[in-house]
Amino acid sequence: DTHLDTGFFGHPKGLSTLFFTEMWERMSYYGMRALLVLFMTASLQEEGLEFTVAAAAAIYGLYTGAVYFLGLPGGWIADRLLGGQRTVWYGGIIIMCGHIVLAIPAHETFFIGLILVAAGTGLLKPNISAMVGQLYRDEDERRDGGYALYYMGINLGSVLGYTICGYFMENLGWHWAFGAAAVGMGVGLIQYRHTLGNIAQVGDQPSNPLSAEKARKAWSVIGAVVAVVAGVVALTYSGLITINPVVVAQYVAVAFTLIFFAYYVFIYFAGELEHDEKRKMWALFLVCVASACFWSGFEQAGSSLNLFARDYTDRLIGDFSIPTAWFQSTNSFFIIILSPFFAALWINLAKRMISPSYTVKCAIGLVIMASGFIVMFFAAQYAAQGLKVAPMWLVTTYFLHTVGELCLSPVALSAVSKLSPKRFAGQMMGVFVLTYSIGNIISGLLAGNFDPNNVEQMPNLYLQISLFCIGVGILVGLFGLRAKVWEGQSQQQAA
Ligand code: GLN
Repeated sequence: DTHLDTGFFGHPKGLSTLFFTEMWERMSYYGMRALLVLFMTASLQEEGLEFTVAAAAAIYGLYTGAVYFLGLPGGWIADRLLGGQRTVWYGGIIIMCGHIVLAIPAHETFFIGLILVAAGTGLLKPNISAMVGQLYRDEDERRDGGYALYYMGINLGSVLGYTICGYFMENLGWHWAFGAAAVGMGVGLIQYRHTLGNIAQVGDQPSNPLSAEKARKAWSVIGAVVAVVAGVVALTYSGLITINPVVVAQYVAVAFTLIFFAYYVFIYFAGELEHDEKRKMWALFLVCVASACFWSGFEQAGSSLNLFARDYTDRLIGDFSIPTAWFQSTNSFFIIILSPFFAALWINLAKRMISPSYTVKCAIGLVIMASGFIVMFFAAQYAAQGLKVAPMWLVTTYFLHTVGELCLSPVALSAVSKLSPKRFAGQMMGVFVLTYSIGNIISGLLAGNFDPNNVEQMPNLYLQISLFCIGVGILVGLFGLRAKVWEGQSQQQAA
């Protein structure tokens, strides 16, 4: 029983196992992701793939979308076939194989590597996030703090990834950097295996197992899907079919949103939920709406805000020019600095009997993130006049984005863990992770309106994103006042 365990900063020892595994997984994910567009667009002389920017951007969007989309089958496999522990283990192995394939200095294997990383992440990411919550009993107040700590691990990993893979790329070449990601995931796996004893019964069995006969059928279906994917890849390689990534990307955003609703409605009506569980599903739905909107704004970091840093920010300090990429890592640094503060904040608020519902916290996070775009609205007006602005504008925006992220993202993970029907723990985390996908893809579509040749448009783009997110934030927040009852917090506080 992990209830009285305080072996990791006051949290169950098992949290350290999950913290470090996810840290290394994120190191490999963000380290590799940072190189991806650069590698695809680099010329053949530079040993890149020499894709066009449009194709590279579409592939990047599809890849990040697919990574999180695959959390849905990943969660299902854990709930019904393998249990979280084993699903995370196999997922990690597949991710590592993907990075190894990318490290092979042959261009032909590139897409196979990407597919492996995406499939492995789908198995690992939602399930490890769900297992964090399962370390705590229902009434354990440390859960939110535990997710805040876990979220810090995620961002420690991304800083490691940017630094290590970025360094290898500049000094040794692309394939060494991909190789570093493989080693990172490998370290994570060894760590996981050695400390698995800490998490004992958490996720060791499927929560809602299929009968032996149905399980056999499920494996045949999974085998068939893998075979079809392999077949399509083989046909593409042999040149018999061509896939246009730009066209595919346009349909995928719509498809993912529909799948999100369909899956949600399916669990709601066909999951044999009790009244109480259904109310929690409503609260969780609001959290998901806030999350999708949040990431569609936030993820401008990799696209339009990145271009803003490159083209419209005065990056010169004396003789030193701040590298564009540094602006992006400010987010991870702010997270690491602010996480302990937020973990303490929620505990202190709870002690004073002020504990906003999960939904209200997420709404606040969305509005704070949106206020970052108000800052950009002003900064973009200077840029539209042809001026370069001081770095403080972007840093302030990223600061607000990070504060918003800490109100929303770890809180939402905790909410999913607390409010999902137990039998669907992995799948509901998969459904939630799908909101990352939707956010990422919409963000890409929004960034498409960022036209360096038409700077006058820029202030408006940022104003629109901001107003839209503030509007949704207020709506979600208003419903959130009601959601406190649905989340089942009121009884607890009365007690
Ligand atoms: N940084 C967070 C993570 O890696 C959220 C990622 C996202 O795009 N939503 O888990």
